[in-house]
Amino acid sequence: MHEMFIARKMIDIIKDEMRGHNARVLRSVHVNIGTFSSIVPEALSFCFEIMIKDTEMDGARLFIDIVPLIGRCISCNKEFEIRDYSFFCPFCEGVRIDTVSGQELTVAEIEVD
Ligand SMILES: [Zn+2]
Repeated sequence: MHEMFIARKMIDIIKDEMRGHNARVLRSVHVNIGTFSSIVPEALSFCFEIMIKDTEMDGARLFIDIVPLIGRCISCNKEFEIRDYSFFCPFCEGVRIDTVSGQELTVAEIEVD
């Protein structure tokens, strides 16, 4: 399950953050997940909870925000949301599209004591 790997990565990031702030208790975590990252939020929550059990993070709440997939047209430089994997520009119908966001997983915020 690829969420297991993601949860592990997330926990490593949080651990570093906690160490940096001399925090001992983790209250909550907010993460942003791109719609295009192929992460299933429920599966990620499940893995996260298993992994933090009996650690200093036990009991922390995980909040997941879904970030839409945003593309930028290389021809006309406009940004738009990409739906249903249709990678073409709705303004000029260009097909050379850069993705701006929507593929990432980021730890946006943690709340600690
Ligand atoms: Zn365009």
